[in-house]
Amino acid sequence: MREVLESIPPHVTLVAVTKFASLTAMHQAYAAGIRHFGENRLQSAQEKYPHFQAYPDLTWHLIGHLQRNKVKKALQLFDWIHSLDRLELAVEIDRLIPVVGKSPQLLLQVKLAPDPAKFGWEPDQLLATVPQLLQLPHLQIVGLMTILPQGVVGEAAYEIFQRIHPLKAQLEAQGLHLPHLSMGMSADYQEAIRAGATIVRIGSKLFNAKT
Ligand SMILES: *Cc1c(COP(=O)(O)O)cnc(C)c1O
Repeated sequence: MREVLESIPPHVTLVAVTKFASLTAMHQAYAAGIRHFGENRLQSAQEKYPHFQAYPDLTWHLIGHLQRNKVKKALQLFDWIHSLDRLELAVEIDRLIPVVGKSPQLLLQVKLAPDPAKFGWEPDQLLATVPQLLQLPHLQIVGLMTILPQGVVGEAAYEIFQRIHPLKAQLEAQGLHLPHLSMGMSADYQEAIRAGATIVRIGSKLFNAKT
């Protein structure tokens, strides 16, 4: 864990992905200074959350696909949602923010390379949707999130991560403001940081889980 912590520069936020982590490991992560936890399933967060009520300085991130009928619960649990991946979901989040009284930081999940196995917007599709997103008054969209196709590592990963910058520029030209870039996991976070990530999401390398 130390080794990973020491390899993250201070301007990058480490989200410790806890999908395979025990509660004990999570408490150890907290003791080591980690303040951001990421879960890809709402249900797991719901089970773990009560064990950390004593730590009010924790920030909870939803990084996995969110079903529309679970938005209310997600708003109650999470401070950040990295997986805003379709307009229908954006509309539902916007509708429920005033109802729940909580407004998470939202990241738009994009595909920088075609990948039928992943959720997320194709760049063109997202660019075409911006006018509709801008009409949803409660949304706090603050950045982009991406996951690379399975097996892409090293320089190939770096080059794909770099594609986020022209996309971000085009989206910002349409009126969004996207200072946060959530990219990089255990296998590719060094390349992601080199390519400008502001948030990395690391699970197995931090918790030594077998994946
Ligand atoms: C599991 C997961 C991670 C962390 O993956 P590791 O390879 O274990 O670091 C990051 N992001 C998302 C969306 C995930 O589901």
